[in-house]
Amino acid sequence: MKHKVIEIFLFTDALGWKIVNDHNFMVELFPHRKKIDMQFGYSSSAIPTILSGKTPSEHGHLGLFCFAPEASPFKKLSRWEWIFKPASFWNRGRVRHHLSKLLKKFYGFTGYFQLYRMPIWKLKFVDYCEKRDLFVSGGMENIANLHDVLSAKGVKFHISDWHLSDAENYLAAEKAIENGKNFLFVYTASLDGVLHDKVGDAQAVKSKLDEISLQIQSLYEKAAEYADDVHFTVISDHGMTPLTGTADIMKTMEDSDLVFGRDYGACYDSTMARFYYLSEKAEPVITALMAEYPGRFLSNDDEIKYGIYRTDRAFGDGIFLLDAGIQIAPSDMGGKPLNGMHGFAPEDEHSFAAILSNTPLPQELEHVADYFDLMIERAGKL
Ligand SMILES: [Zn+2]
Repeated sequence: MKHKVIEIFLFTDALGWKIVNDHNFMVELFPHRKKIDMQFGYSSSAIPTILSGKTPSEHGHLGLFCFAPEASPFKKLSRWEWIFKPASFWNRGRVRHHLSKLLKKFYGFTGYFQLYRMPIWKLKFVDYCEKRDLFVSGGMENIANLHDVLSAKGVKFHISDWHLSDAENYLAAEKAIENGKNFLFVYTASLDGVLHDKVGDAQAVKSKLDEISLQIQSLYEKAAEYADDVHFTVISDHGMTPLTGTADIMKTMEDSDLVFGRDYGACYDSTMARFYYLSEKAEPVITALMAEYPGRFLSNDDEIKYGIYRTDRAFGDGIFLLDAGIQIAPSDMGGKPLNGMHGFAPEDEHSFAAILSNTPLPQELEHVADYFDLMIERAGKL
């Protein structure tokens, strides 16, 4: 049986507006294209926003870690701190990877879990945001996600398993079409990895985009066998900003008179330091120290505008955002800077996300959070 319409939403991590235009990406198939405001933060904020239409203020995901000693699930681990020495061994990428896997299993986390470079001794001070798999039914606790809403509407849908590779996800999408599904949310993330490394290498970026074009074309053709009309829409979460410099904020803080866990808490993402003021002297000292770095503390108005303002200050009392291109290194996310990074100011030309479609797009679509309503509206018409 042929469907009237098959709706495909293909999420492509880091396919920013700038790269789309620099490479004139798939203009023939996708004549309807819009520059989209990214969700402030990085994929850990954008994915829950895309899957729920809510901002971090509401869904609570900004950065993977937050400073929360009371809520830390890792408190018991700190009793075993002596095992994790020397730090040089436990900081090795492969060791961290295996340790992350072990902890994920031990704590029963079903979401994306990586320790990155978070020091073992700091774990007892932090909580982890993505304990659950956001893509599955009930994955966002009291917020209905894409899976929940599509199920409730009785849509014949397929949502990718984010654990799989892009090739596996394209294959699973084709199988879903063969099995009668007519709404697909396909997740792909490999472009992000390529751009972190090769954002400055136009040839490498082009060949990755060529590979994606072929994958899209083939999925499109498959869908066309099973429907009179295929609505194909590519969505992204943010772009990629080339590296222009680094800031060793962690060392500045460690050299200061302030004591971590007593005077202040901090989470060091690649593009922002999120500070928690525990003693009275923390705020003035940290404000003065950060004045040496190229960046700014977000105002309350900024936080509201970016959808990250929370009265409980779960994301930090002060969020210091580096100027576009300057990465915190080392950070909790990595020891060395990468050639490209996302998570800078949404207004930076490299930050913008993109939506590309073969079907006209609504005028009011402006922000990554708006994809959700579009998906639900399109699903409702099937
Ligand atoms: Zn990334």
